[in-house]
Amino acid sequence: MIFHLSTVKKILAASITLPLLLQQAHADDKSRSVSILFAGDIVLDGMPGKMIAEGKDPLAPFSDIFKTTDIRVANLECVVATSGHAADKNFTFRAAPKTLATLRRHFDAVSIANNHSGDFGREAFTEMLSHLNQYQVKYFGGGRQLHEAHAPLLIEKNGLKIALLGYNEFMPRSFEATASEAGVAWSEDEQVVADIRKARTESGADLVIPFMHWGWENDKHSTARQQQLAHLMIDAGADAVIGGHPHVIQETEQYKDKPIIYSLGNFVIDELDNEPQTRGWITRLELNKSGVKAWDTRLAKINQDGVPMPVPEAATPCWQQGDASIKLCSNAKIDFVSTKKP
Ligand SMILES: [Zn+2]
Repeated sequence: MIFHLSTVKKILAASITLPLLLQQAHADDKSRSVSILFAGDIVLDGMPGKMIAEGKDPLAPFSDIFKTTDIRVANLECVVATSGHAADKNFTFRAAPKTLATLRRHFDAVSIANNHSGDFGREAFTEMLSHLNQYQVKYFGGGRQLHEAHAPLLIEKNGLKIALLGYNEFMPRSFEATASEAGVAWSEDEQVVADIRKARTESGADLVIPFMHWGWENDKHSTARQQQLAHLMIDAGADAVIGGHPHVIQETEQYKDKPIIYSLGNFVIDELDNEPQTRGWITRLELNKSGVKAWDTRLAKINQDGVPMPVPEAATPCWQQGDASIKLCSNAKIDFVSTKKP
């Protein structure tokens, strides 16, 4: 077979440029990043609920920081409904459906896997799912039945598919979804491992992040149980583990180069019993296809009305690829720790 010279040139050019293009595509893939923010417990009952009813926005002080991230997630530590009856427990929280308009202004998704989303029974919980859909607040960690409660929320951004899973393991377990009833996802180890693996194999997620509701209230350090489950989740393929519930901040850890933020503490809540409960973190993670490139935390000081305020003079944990250990970063700079790329 005789090739015309121009054809030969084209073949040669293709054979040279194709690998280059592939390399370029691969580099683009790696450099494509998505930022995601997690906030701790948000209770839109009490004073924060009243403020919203009066046209005020308890989340406004953080809005500039929220705008620095692509995806914003929080733990919705109350039911949002008008129906149901308060369960027989110390604290029960129920917020008005209209509060979701304010929540949606700042957050894209919420975990409903906690010990308060079931405070007014399954009917109110189911009503909340409709309100969340109506206000376009995505949710995970709970659903109309067990299968939905354990399904990941998949968020696609800049070509990255991120799976969010939510679990509660603080009593009462009676809020758990059943095969036919609405409720939250409970963290049985085997099930959690299966969910994480399925998020990759069946849902095609590039990254998997579980958002946990665990630990003991007012405990400033994680328990052996939290550590065991966090490590198990990362061993099963989780890219980061974020937690909450203790109402106070707990420590952070890099395990196999992946972050564990054991407890973010409170964020919007007016039930504050002691000084440590008035301090919470938000955390921001910068992700690419290979995992978490960098993360930081920002301190929120919560006032008596339950409103979180940034604390620019604070220095809180942060890390980025290449760091040997977790450092402290100044909260004065609003830019993400690794946004200034070389
Ligand atoms: Zn809780």
